[in-house]
Amino acid sequence: MATEVKATNITWHEGSVSRAEREKLLNQKGVTVWMTGLSASGKSTIACILEQMLLHEKKHAYRLDGDNVRHELNKNLGFSAEDRAENIRRIGEVAKLFADAGVIAITSFISPYVKDRDAVRANLKAGEFVEVYVKVSLEAAEKRDPKGLYKKARAGQLKGFTGIDDPYEAPEKAEIVIDTEVVPPEGAARQILDYLEKGGYLTA
Ligand code: ADP
Repeated sequence: MATEVKATNITWHEGSVSRAEREKLLNQKGVTVWMTGLSASGKSTIACILEQMLLHEKKHAYRLDGDNVRHELNKNLGFSAEDRAENIRRIGEVAKLFADAGVIAITSFISPYVKDRDAVRANLKAGEFVEVYVKVSLEAAEKRDPKGLYKKARAGQLKGFTGIDDPYEAPEKAEIVIDTEVVPPEGAARQILDYLEKGGYLTA
């Protein structure tokens, strides 16, 4: 469903500082590192380590985390396909603002639908969307279950849980694929950091 537009009579106000100037100041390029994967795949764990690694390299990064964003900004949204789409659309817009500010935005959302992730990608310029598939088998994710959510979903206390009674569409063209049953969290974060370094995102 397309988002209903209620705002009228609004005009974009151009600033006098360019994005290139902001990026030069920060000596980095604005980008969205978009982690997608099943619950308990390791998105948040890896995002935290990556954020810290980047800060140690004096790079300005900021995490947008699924549960954190749902606490306030998106607290009126549930987990139906429609609400998930709106959740991702809003996050995509926030990430875009961060990218424009020259910041490296690291998002960790299950974001189960290809269509929603591709919409965020299409809303950003080429190279500004780095999709990271944080891969794990359902079996391994259920064994980890750090928040006890799979257990609840299996017991029927949680409906529409991704992987159990809601679909997860794996990315087919992710820039980075990490198999978390093979690569430990630090290695995963390092893999993303290397990609950003090689791609020239960490200079301007
Ligand atoms: P998500 O944000 O994807 O829901 P979390 O990061 O909250 O996942 O939880 C992942 C859990 O799996 C954590 O308890 C983490 O310690 C554990 N884990 C085990 N192996 C890995 C790995 N290779 N990468 C990331 N997390 C892992």
